[in-house]
Amino acid sequence: MSRVYNFSAGPAVLPEEVLREAADEMMDYRGCGMSVMEMSHRSKVYDQIIKEAEADLRELMNIPDNYKVLFLQGGASQQFAAIPMNLMKNKKAGYIITGQWAKKAFQEAKIYGEAVELASSADETFSYIPDCSDLAITDDMDYVYICENNTIYGTKFKELPNTKGVDLVADVSSCFLSEPVDVTKYGVIYGGVQKNVGPAGVVIAIIREDLIRDDVLPTTPTMLKYKTQADNDSLYNTPPCYGIYICGKVFKWIKKMGGLQAMKEHNEKKAKILYDFLDESKLFKGTVRKEDRSLMNVPFVTGDADLDAKFVAEAKAAGFENLKGHRTVGGMRASIYNAMPIEGVEKLVEFMKKFEEENA
Ligand SMILES: *Cc1c(COP(=O)(O)O)cnc(C)c1O
Repeated sequence: MSRVYNFSAGPAVLPEEVLREAADEMMDYRGCGMSVMEMSHRSKVYDQIIKEAEADLRELMNIPDNYKVLFLQGGASQQFAAIPMNLMKNKKAGYIITGQWAKKAFQEAKIYGEAVELASSADETFSYIPDCSDLAITDDMDYVYICENNTIYGTKFKELPNTKGVDLVADVSSCFLSEPVDVTKYGVIYGGVQKNVGPAGVVIAIIREDLIRDDVLPTTPTMLKYKTQADNDSLYNTPPCYGIYICGKVFKWIKKMGGLQAMKEHNEKKAKILYDFLDESKLFKGTVRKEDRSLMNVPFVTGDADLDAKFVAEAKAAGFENLKGHRTVGGMRASIYNAMPIEGVEKLVEFMKKFEEENA
């Protein structure tokens, strides 16, 4: 067996320990004589899996009792519609546009009500986070929406926007469980899990209870009503059982690693190695304003598209996979999520140094 260093933005690297454990339990989950994939979601055994996953996540994120944790399907993109459907009481919300995912959510919200663009960093290819200290937020807005870590452009909100008392909704897909978070600052935190937590298809939504209501937009499908899912403990219909089981294992792995504070230190250490190199390199350059740099997604360029392509090809041949930048920005991007070991980043930087010497 040989594993590469996988810098994919998502689906992305998972802890080897988790994969091994899942492999061991594949044919016979703890004496059940069947795989988790094959068992009823109404069984006692599965009930314990999903309850334990929720309990571990609550412990990790210190989630207050007045927040529900929902394990949903449809990926993060499904929530682009579910959020306005469930939360747009006044049919008005503010959106901060820091990249393609925020823009997609914004466009989707326009289908259901008045979505107002509060700020944008489109003018500089989303390479920074706009000043959000005094936005034109009005009392009649049902929520203010952000994409907290911008997977494609490599920016992260280091400080949450001043929402002037309006509830904050955040897509945290690509920074989920990468550092401690104060859940009470949000109305809704949600993320697709395939960036940092588990297999694609599962989306976790952490929602303050008073935002889970019956009076949603009348056309809201039963499945997309948070109340349906909350009343049924995420078991209204068959949930993505196997995916949730893997998420549960990742939660346990993070706990074992020391929790979110330890994860943050681990991620800062990794990111520093790469950013420090980018800052001193004569060939490679980071594309993001320093103070807004993400710990998870690190885009960089040489400034020459042919040389970028050569780098990606040679890196791949050397065992560093998925370094090509997003199709909308070009260049390179190294995604260094929780499960990327520090050696992966160290070896990547060694390889970049060598490439720089050879192509000076
Ligand atoms: C990947 C990603 C999405 C889309 O996730 P899907 O599960 O494919 O819908 C949305 N938001 C962010 C921040 C992402 O990184």
